[in-house]
Order: sequence, then structure tokens, then C-alpha cells
Amino acid sequence: MDTRLPSTDWPELEKGWVWLCGAGPGDPGLLTLHALNALRQADVVIYDALVQEAILDWAPQAEHIYAGKRGGKPSAKQRDISLRLVDLAKEGKRVLRLKGGDPFVFGRGGEEAQTLVQHGIPVRIIPGISAGIGGLAYAGIPVTHRDVNQSVTFVTGHDQTGNATQSLDWKAIAKGSQVIVIYMGMKHIAQISTSLINAGRPLSEPVAVVTSATTVEQQVIETTLGTIEADINKAGLEPPAIICVGKAVRMRDVLNWQAQAQGIEPVNLDPLGRGRPAESA
Ligand code: SAH
Repeated sequence: MDTRLPSTDWPELEKGWVWLCGAGPGDPGLLTLHALNALRQADVVIYDALVQEAILDWAPQAEHIYAGKRGGKPSAKQRDISLRLVDLAKEGKRVLRLKGGDPFVFGRGGEEAQTLVQHGIPVRIIPGISAGIGGLAYAGIPVTHRDVNQSVTFVTGHDQTGNATQSLDWKAIAKGSQVIVIYMGMKHIAQISTSLINAGRPLSEPVAVVTSATTVEQQVIETTLGTIEADINKAGLEPPAIICVGKAVRMRDVLNWQAQAQGIEPVNLDPLGRGRPAESA
């Protein structure tokens, strides 16, 4: 593969700067060109648990520092990570802070950037493809579809303390959100699904759970609000997972492109029951 960047003026990662960059949900092909440009210039890459290690191969010249919270490795405190970034920048390093998905979507990127700015460190933000959009697309689920939803709500299943998110008004979400995309939802899925059902969403509402989306380990189950907890257990699913609640999930019948690439025919060409071909909109 020719990995030269298209000829245009690419920004230079200067000494003493920190670039806060999204790595996308997993598949290295979902990196942005700005991310690639950053990986090539960094002296040090500080990366999260959700960043696929294959991506670090794009920065062989750099020191790689793990700052994640998974996989049995010791966990790094948020404050320590932010201050480490400050120190590295002050040492005159070209620092790349690489985070899973998009750095500003449930990624604490805002907090890290704020700390850097407060310490007078110049920053650049490089957005990435968030798991709640790109991960679902790899499962064949469009996060919006004209026949289904005119809005989508992204929620986190737990707050800073690891408890179920207290500040969420599930009644309002259940009522107002045609499609709900839940990050970090596995731990409290029983509570979340019960809250949505109690707030009026049907037991039969379609739900998809996509784990390790866009990686070779990706798994997808389709279930319903009433059966999600049992089905997650039955399938033995492990985080990271994106959970999508709503009729958009049905589109997977026709849009499961990964299965189709393996020669499996779509199961239903009219999953939303429009009764007419899609193009006659
Ligand atoms: N900034 C990230 C989200 C970080 S929060 C983003 O924009 O995607 C961590 C949560 O993101 C995980 O608990 C999971 O809900 C979700 N997530 C991230 N990568 C994922 C992946 N490859 N597959 C499924 N879920 C993922």
C-alpha cells in the first residue's frame, strides 16, 4: 500500500505541543490522514486501552506509553495522565495523545485539553470516528435513517464513579429519542433496559450489541429490550460494546455488508416494512 499523504500542506507537530487525536474505533483504516501525519512525527505516543496496538506500528520512531485502564494492566489516573502530557510537552517532546474513537466523545479529551491549556501547552485536536457511529456502521446499522429517526441520542451507561449515570432522565430519553446509542452500557444494562421499558419503550424494541466493533473480534447480536441482558450473557459478550436501541437496528437485515462480503444474501430487503423499494422515496 502506498501510504504517502496526498500533497498538501500537512501541519507540523512541533516540539512542546500536544496533539489530542482520535484513533477511530479499531480498524486502522479508519484513522484520519491527520492522525497518520501525527503518528509519523511524534516523539512519544500516549495511548488508551481502546487503541489497537497495530496503529502504533505507524509510529515506529516514537516511544509508546500505555495509559489505559483495561486488560489487567495497572490503571492510570486521569489526573496523572493529564500531568504526564504536560511534563512531556515541557520537556520539549512532540507529544501525540491517541484516544479510541473521537477524543471529545465520552473520551475525557475535553478535560485533558483543558489541563494542557491551563499549563500553557499548545494543543491541536484531531477528531476521530466515534464507535457509536462507525462501529454501528460496521455492523450494518445506520445511526440515522429517514424512515426511522430524525434524532439520535448518545448516552453513557456509567458516570465518573462507575455507577449507573444518575444525571440521565431516562423518561425523557425514552420519549424523545427514536434511536439511543449507549456507550459503556454493559455493566448496567439490566438497569438501563428496565428504565427504558418503565418509561414506555416496548419489550420488543429492537436492540443490537456490537462488541469490539471494526476489529477482527467484532461480534454482533440482535435482541430486544426485554431480552438483552439474558442474550448478552448467553452470547458471553465482553466490553467494549456499543448498544443501539431502536428501529434502525432492523436495517441490519439488508445492510449487514460484512456478511454479504462473505457471500451471505441479505435476509430482508424491506426491513422497515415500507412496502416499496427504497429508491421510490
Ligand atoms: N471516545 C470513544 C469512546 C470512549 S468511551 C469513541 O468516540 O468511540 C469507551 C466506550 O466506547 C466503550 O465502553 C464502548 O462503549 C465504546 N467503544 C469504543 N470502541 C469500541 C469498539 N471498538 N467497539 C464497541 N464499543 C466501543
